[in-house]
Amino acid sequence: MNKIVFTLLVLCTVGCGFKSEKADLIIHNAKIYSLDEQNSVHQAIAIRGDSIVALGAEREILNKFSGKQIDAKGATLYPGFIDAHSHLYGYSLTQIQLDLKGVKSESEMLAKIAAFKKANPTLKAITGRGWDESEWPTKKLPSRTRIDSIVPNIPLLLGRVDGHSAIVNKAALDLADFNSETTIEGGYVDYNNGILKEVAVQVVADKLPFNITDFDKLINRGANNCIEAGLTTVCDAGLPLEVLKNYQDLAAKGNLPVRLYAMAEPSQENFHYYKTQGTVDEPFFKQYAVKAYADGSLGSRSAALIGDYHDDEGNSGILTTSPDSLEKIAELCDALGLQLNTHCIGDRALNVTLNAYSKFLKPNNDKRWRIEHVQVVQESDLDLFGKLGVVPSVQPTHATSDAKWAAERLGPNRLNLSYAYQTLTKQLGWIALGTDFPVEDIDPIATFYSAVFREDIGGKLNEKFLAEEALTREQALRGITIWAALSMHMEDEVGSLETGKKADLVLLNTDLLEANPEAIKNTSVLLTIIGGKVVFKK
Ligand SMILES: [Zn+2]
Ligand SMILES: [Zn+2]
Repeated sequence: MNKIVFTLLVLCTVGCGFKSEKADLIIHNAKIYSLDEQNSVHQAIAIRGDSIVALGAEREILNKFSGKQIDAKGATLYPGFIDAHSHLYGYSLTQIQLDLKGVKSESEMLAKIAAFKKANPTLKAITGRGWDESEWPTKKLPSRTRIDSIVPNIPLLLGRVDGHSAIVNKAALDLADFNSETTIEGGYVDYNNGILKEVAVQVVADKLPFNITDFDKLINRGANNCIEAGLTTVCDAGLPLEVLKNYQDLAAKGNLPVRLYAMAEPSQENFHYYKTQGTVDEPFFKQYAVKAYADGSLGSRSAALIGDYHDDEGNSGILTTSPDSLEKIAELCDALGLQLNTHCIGDRALNVTLNAYSKFLKPNNDKRWRIEHVQVVQESDLDLFGKLGVVPSVQPTHATSDAKWAAERLGPNRLNLSYAYQTLTKQLGWIALGTDFPVEDIDPIATFYSAVFREDIGGKLNEKFLAEEALTREQALRGITIWAALSMHMEDEVGSLETGKKADLVLLNTDLLEANPEAIKNTSVLLTIIGGKVVFKK
């Protein structure tokens, strides 16, 4: 026998019989989509501590590593899902507030208010969210008259499903010193009906006696729902300093169940904090971004459009932050090295914001300033995304939820470049996906489904909505993993399965890149792992 072959044989025998390395957890017999640059697919993965130590073929990993094993029985393993735009605190609050999602009429809403009040007699204020008059037979906004007789003595504020309008009762209006003459810059007040929009909602909300005694418990409850849905990193967009500090405490105690990327609201207080205390970059908590609002929402007809609403002559929406103030915010973010993410739904809001960005973003910069939502785009603004390196951050379930009335609001011409996710993806070569929960459900599979099939996963739409703007399956999967991580400056830690990265994984009973749409609708999360720890098991 040739000497070299003999030596190799000996080495192999020794190597195969002796597991040379220790791992804390080995998952094998899986189809593993790594979503690394080569799109490698593996069968087994070894984890030590909170990180990935190896990926490879079944025998290769099992022969090399000893440790606790999980047999995936052929299921598909992905990087843990990431929601690039969501509101964890707001979502967690909805778990203890009056939930008005799916309410079919104003009378049903009134009945729910009465029942909630009866069930919670000690509350100092009633808050809730989720009503949507476009789902009611009347299609008309509600009015406070009958609410005032049900809840006469304590303030009540109920947000519309998009969070950009709210109905309030007389007690809440009194608390904020609103009367029939009140006007609010960047907002709208209909005193007689108790309808508020944009900044006016915030003014009243800030006055309410919120009573959150146990922040840890509240966030844990919301975060655990995320984990069960396969999410391992989520976002909390637009936070006041008090909530940011609560999160910092939670993270310092090691009690944040998911990784969180926080965006501060652009208040003086927050900028002062960034100036004096700097940013936070811990494995479970990231705070180096600011969220500004350029306009409202299409649902509330407060998104700032170029030209009037197709179904509301004379109304072109609201710029909730003036162009000068936006530029000031951009200047501060630039000076402090912060990432700026601005909510822009209408094409006018987008134009104003990109103009403000262009004063501070040089070609080939890597700041990854983002535009949130990007629902309506003027064609001449498109190439600014590529030129300035601005990241589109979109929510595919918004597209399929808005599909039923988007054409009425926008008219046929503007609809062409609306919810245009494929066109937007082409600008930088990537796009970040999220849900904006609690506006939409937390489910990342619903995001994938809407992005790829341009239909809602619940099957309410009868036809595909602007099907030519669909993402490919791979794009959509990257959008909820590595591209979302990129949009949060977290790609070195999470978003793909590669040696050295954090062991954040999700095991599904469905192969999202190959299964038929029906099978995708029935996807179950079998296992969620964050930082090497099993945090959910079906
Ligand atoms: Zn927003
Ligand atoms: Zn949002």
